Parts: sequence; C-alpha cells; structure tokens
Amino acid sequence: MVDLAILRSRFHGELLTAADGARFDAGRAAFNAMFDRRPAVIARATSAADVMAAVDFAREHRVPFAVRGGGHSVAGYSTIEGGFLLDLAPMKGVRVDAAGRRVRAQAGLTWGELDRQTQAFGLATTGGRVTSTGIAGFILGSGSGWLERLHGLACDNLLSAELVTADGRLITASADENAELFWALKGGGGNFGVVTEFELALHPVGPMVLGGMLLFARADAAPVCRAYRDLLRDAPPEWGGGIAFLVAPPAPFVPEALRLQPAVGIIVAWFADHARGQALLGDLRRVVAPAADGVQPMPYCALQSLVDAGNPPGRRNYWRSDNLHALDDGAIDTIIACANRATSPFSNIILQPGGHAVAAVPDDATPLGGRTAPWQVHCYGSWESGDDADHIAWVKHTERALAPWSAGHVSLNFVSDADGSRVRAAFGEAKFRRLSALKRVWDPDNLFRFNQNIVPAPN
Ligand SMILES: Cc1cc2nc3c(=O)[nH]c(=O)nc-3n(C[C@H](O)[C@H](O)[C@H](O)COP(=O)(O)OP(=O)(O)OC[C@H]3O[C@@H](n4cnc5c(N)ncnc54)[C@H](O)[C@@H]3O)c2cc1C
Repeated sequence: MVDLAILRSRFHGELLTAADGARFDAGRAAFNAMFDRRPAVIARATSAADVMAAVDFAREHRVPFAVRGGGHSVAGYSTIEGGFLLDLAPMKGVRVDAAGRRVRAQAGLTWGELDRQTQAFGLATTGGRVTSTGIAGFILGSGSGWLERLHGLACDNLLSAELVTADGRLITASADENAELFWALKGGGGNFGVVTEFELALHPVGPMVLGGMLLFARADAAPVCRAYRDLLRDAPPEWGGGIAFLVAPPAPFVPEALRLQPAVGIIVAWFADHARGQALLGDLRRVVAPAADGVQPMPYCALQSLVDAGNPPGRRNYWRSDNLHALDDGAIDTIIACANRATSPFSNIILQPGGHAVAAVPDDATPLGGRTAPWQVHCYGSWESGDDADHIAWVKHTERALAPWSAGHVSLNFVSDADGSRVRAAFGEAKFRRLSALKRVWDPDNLFRFNQNIVPAPN
C-alpha cells in the first residue's frame, strides 16, 4: 500500500518499517499503551521539505496518514494501523530572540527541550506539565500549563505558525497572514495542516521559582480542598498549581506512614517573590498541617518536571476532563468520593484553577471557549494491570458524578475517544461551524483526519 521506492526518492529523513525491528518498535510506541499499532511505514521528517514530500505522497497515493509530534495523544492519534505515520520528532530546531521575547521552535520538540533553551535566557512560555509532551499537539489543542493564569494558554502565546497544507504548500499563518486559518490553529488541533514551526511569545520567568507539593492524608481532603478553593478566590495571577488526588510517592520528603497511601497534594507553582508565596501558603498550612512539605525554591525547569515520575510512558490510559462552573462543597465531596473509588494506584484526579490571563482572552478569540470557568477537573485513569473495562468505568463514573457542575468546552487534548459529537460539543455549535467551513477551504478531502476530526462542511 505504501510504495517505499517512490517515497524514498522524495523523502530524505529515515524511513522505518517492520523490517527495522527494535527501531521500528520504538518509533511506533505511543505514550498510551492502549494503542499498539503497526504503521506500514514511519517517515521521520528532518525538514519542511520532507513534510511537503510526505503530504504530497499521502494525498497522491490516498494512503491513511497520521502525524506525530511528541506522541502523547491519549486518544491514540500518534500511531496508525497499516498506514503512513509522519513523525516530526527529528525536527528540533530552536531560535530564541531574547531581546524580542519570542522563540521559533520546530514541531518535533518536547516541552522539556524547549524550556531548557528558553530558560537559558530567563524566559519561558506556557508549556506542558510533563516534560516529554510534544509542543505541537499541545499548542494546537490550546495548551494548558502552570503559567497560564499569568501568561494565558499556549495558543494565546502563538504569534505565527509555518505549516504544510493538504495541497503540499508551505505557508505562514499569523494575525496578518491567513488570519482565519491562524485562528483555527489556536485550538482546532491537527486538522488544517502539518505545522513545521511555531513562533511563540516569551516572558521573563524564574529562573528560580517557588514550587513543590504539600502532601496531606486523604482523610484531610475536605478541609484542604475547601481552604485551597477559598485561597484561590483572591489569589493573584502568579499563583499556578492545583490539587491532586493521588497515591503518595515513596519519595524522601514523604513520611514512611504515608508512602503509597491515598493522599491529596497541593501542587505549588508560584511565579513571584518567594516570601509572598510562602505567606499565602502559610494560610493553607494553618488549616491543616501537611504530612509532608516539599515546597521550596527551585529552577523553573525542575518545576516543569515535578510530576514526570508519576507519568511514565507505556501505561494504559483513559482520560476525561471538564470545566466546572463552580467548586462548591458538594463538588468537592463528590470529587473526594470518586477519588476514593479509584481502581488503580496510578490514576489521579486533578483540580486546576482558572481565571486571570485565561479568562481575560475574549471567548471568540480562539476555537475553544469555557475560558471563564473557575476550575477544571481532570480524571486520569492510568493502570498497568487489571481489566481495562473496570478502569474505564471508573473514569466514566467520575465524569457522570460531576455532570451537575460541568461547564463544557474542555480542550480535547485531555480526552480519550473524541468522537464526532464530543468534538462538536467541545467547540460549541457556532465555532464548530466556523472550523468546519475552514476545513472545507484548507482540507476539503479530509486528508488530515486521524485526529479529533473536524469534518469539512458540505459545499
Ligand atoms: C503525560 C501527559 C501530560 C499532559 N499534560 C498536559 C498539560 O499539562 N496541558 C495540556 O494542555 N495538555 C497536556 N497533555 C495533553 C497533550 O497536550 C496532548 O495529548 C497533545 O496532543 C500532545 O501533543 P504531542 O505532540 O505530544 O502528541 P501527538 O500524539 O504526537 O499528537 C497529538 C495530535 O496532534 C497532532 N499533531 C502533532 N504534531 C502535529 C503537527 N506538527 N502538525 C499538525 N498536527 C500535529 C497529531 O496528529 C495528533 O492528532 C498531556 C498529555 C500527556 C500524555
């Protein structure tokens, strides 16, 4: 189905097939082990020219075509059964313009790689909370990170994108050039082309920030969550972080008795004067004394890797997320009850505060709405053993239990099985129609359909 001789004559990067054994297996492995697929070929692009050649080949030969950045799609879009997988991972060029506070970053970078480069200049932009997440899928899906209350979502920091369209052209999209397409790239996913390079705004950050985790026994979850919610009502934009329902790690800062026990953690990401941040935390510490206190000044890059150890690739994952219109006591009690029913020690529920820079952007400025929601909840089912159906049922149960507080419009970045109706609902009817009309202009034959797909509007 994929004629390698023709592809080889046009494509200069590495081409991997099953005959390449371990290299092929490494290339097809997805973060989410539920997707164990075998592409006919993995084409590892090294340049925009390679991407153009790959798109032309897929279109001309009508080959099922998937695109991969960091391979973190929880819905399994980083790999494809029997088709053509275009992997952008080798494209890792970065050019920081420190004076202009902007960076040009190629689409194969992960957040760990990009943060290291921008932090060399004391700069950063809103990036993923796990360093191995690819910048490409993340930005195209909106991109939520610890810095968002201060500097907005990743898509709010997108200044321009260079992309290869379905007809194989390399074009630029920005506020001045292909402005409608640019709007669609700020959350519409990989539907409109293969992005080769992003230009992002940077901000002075750190290099030392106040970060870490306060850990409490699960029995203290209700007063801890209420106190944190109350603190967040007036917390300044420099306050990032969230609440995590997790199993306490066997880390040195955790007392023996709490290790591997159900716990609740306050993740701290504070981007201003450290003493002021500690003072705010003091209010929280006074309500319930933490069982473990790992909050300390640390390099921004260390904060960005804080939850890496709990999120290794290769586990089975099933996720659902939602915006909440309120976090009242009933919502807190419901979340605690759901967390206490978790079917795997690797599963988490995370609560993240919204507001400030996220809410300040007008709703119609980007495809995804829900910007004024005060809280976002993530239910991450993650397991190494047991029946898939049991773990998935727990995630769906949690979603149903929280339905009374649902505000909708959550980023599809965080959602397993994003079928047609879920995609439509995520954007809302009016924006979905606008995206669908743009899809007809830029990809009328739906070449880029192995994603949270926006079907082209009929003529
Ligand atoms: C451990 C973990 C932590 C996460 N943390 C966060 C977080 O803090 N905040 C957040 O917002 N999200 C988070 N996510 C979700 C993540 O942002 C999305 O899964 C995102 O799509 C990952 O991007 P990727 O490039 O790694 O994924 P991939 O699986 O490679 O790609 C995801 C989608 O984007 C498309 N795509 C990839 N590259 C391109 C490109 N160059 N051009 C066009 N389309 C492309 C793919 O076709 C696919 O549909 C996390 C995911 C994981 C697994």
